[in-house]
Amino acid sequence: DKALTLIADNIGRIDDYPKPGIIFRDITPLLAHAEAFAACIDVLAQRYREQGITQVCGIEARGFIFASALAYRIGAGFVPLRKPGKLPRQTYSRQYALEYGDDELQVHRDALTTADKVVVIDDLLATGGTALAAAQLVQDCGAQLQELAFIITLNDLPGVSKLAQAGLPSYTLCRF
Ligand code: IMP
Repeated sequence: DKALTLIADNIGRIDDYPKPGIIFRDITPLLAHAEAFAACIDVLAQRYREQGITQVCGIEARGFIFASALAYRIGAGFVPLRKPGKLPRQTYSRQYALEYGDDELQVHRDALTTADKVVVIDDLLATGGTALAAAQLVQDCGAQLQELAFIITLNDLPGVSKLAQAGLPSYTLCRF
């Protein structure tokens, strides 16, 4: 597919960043390429526009970029899933393990209701820890999670299977 090739071709690869042995996938060339960035939003919008999605949740920080554009495009709201200490009102909170230490995501308790049908967006799915915490926050609010979508999924890491084991469907534009 032409759109997906254009997207994949504009994702940068940096070897040994942030540490030796790690291959970092860089979406900044994709964002700067008007057609490729538009293609991401077009493909996602085509997938979700007829599904009755009421809210698009973006994971801080790169997920915000795609989630907000998608929300506008499909006529849904945008809800930020944020790192701890950023949201001013009552939150639900989920911790998850990183390679070294823990991290946490939070959502405003009243950001989603049982009437909401939600898509969660992030730039990249690796081990799935971040995405699983995001899905749990949506469920903590009692909302219906339709799918989690990513620009990039790393094939060698267990993200997709971790989500599938939790009964969570995922979708990706590119695989590396
Ligand atoms: P996971 O929790 O292991 O699935 O890691 C996914 C999170 O780490 C996402 O929020 C990504 O933004 C970030 N991440 C991990 N590896 C990369 C990368 O190579 N490029 C950009 N972001 C990455």
